[in-house]
Amino acid sequence: MRRFLIAGNWKMNLDRQAAVGLARAVVRGATSIQAVDLAVCPPFCYLEAVGGELHDSAVALGAQNMFHQPQGAFTGEISPLMLRDLGCRFVILGHSERRHVLGESDELINKKVHAASATGLTPIVCLGELLSEREAGKTLEAVRQQFAKSLAGLSAEDMCKTVLAYEPVWAIGTGKVASPDQAEEVHLALRKIIAERYNAQVAEAVRILYGGSVTPENAGKLLQQPDIDGALVGGASLKAEQFLSIAAAAR
Ligand code: PEP
Repeated sequence: MRRFLIAGNWKMNLDRQAAVGLARAVVRGATSIQAVDLAVCPPFCYLEAVGGELHDSAVALGAQNMFHQPQGAFTGEISPLMLRDLGCRFVILGHSERRHVLGESDELINKKVHAASATGLTPIVCLGELLSEREAGKTLEAVRQQFAKSLAGLSAEDMCKTVLAYEPVWAIGTGKVASPDQAEEVHLALRKIIAERYNAQVAEAVRILYGGSVTPENAGKLLQQPDIDGALVGGASLKAEQFLSIAAAAR
């Protein structure tokens, strides 16, 4: 039985004081939400401060990215070991902003997925089609290809621990949420792809989140879909009340 996961992607927002305040409010509200896993992913520079607030709470710490090498001459990068050292449990990889604004390839994301798994971090691997791909009827083909390349070579054991996030690019930060049927179609297709490549048990174990303009208003119907196991939340995760309402909708 898969547990819901609601993860907040704070992106490049907030200052130290606001990040700590938001974490504190999420921790306070999380005490009444038991059947749902919660995580927040602040900017790198606030991981330690936010981690201090989450300590001993049910809210896990996640990062928004990492490099795939453990250490070395990689100016400006952060390693999986550093994230683990800071208490991170999750790391978002292959977010559409990293793919499409910062030019990350499936091949690079694949290296990061392997490095995260080998370090004991749980990757939240983002996949999703562009608007042009959806309009051309190529949504399933696009996510199938991203899945094949970004997760190439992952063992069944590591796949079971990996979280996928279906995030249609046209829905991220736009206020245009996928309908529950549109999202469920892709989630179900992803589960079938996992079953083909691994087996039915692995497909049943993998959590697949939906991301893209999730709000307290639309979360309930999305999270009622049988193959949607939670949400990766951007904008609405910056307000504790909204983030917690989304988590409450998952119960
Ligand atoms: C995201 O950044 O992963 C995201 C889904 O953003 P938003 O909820 O703001 O669309």
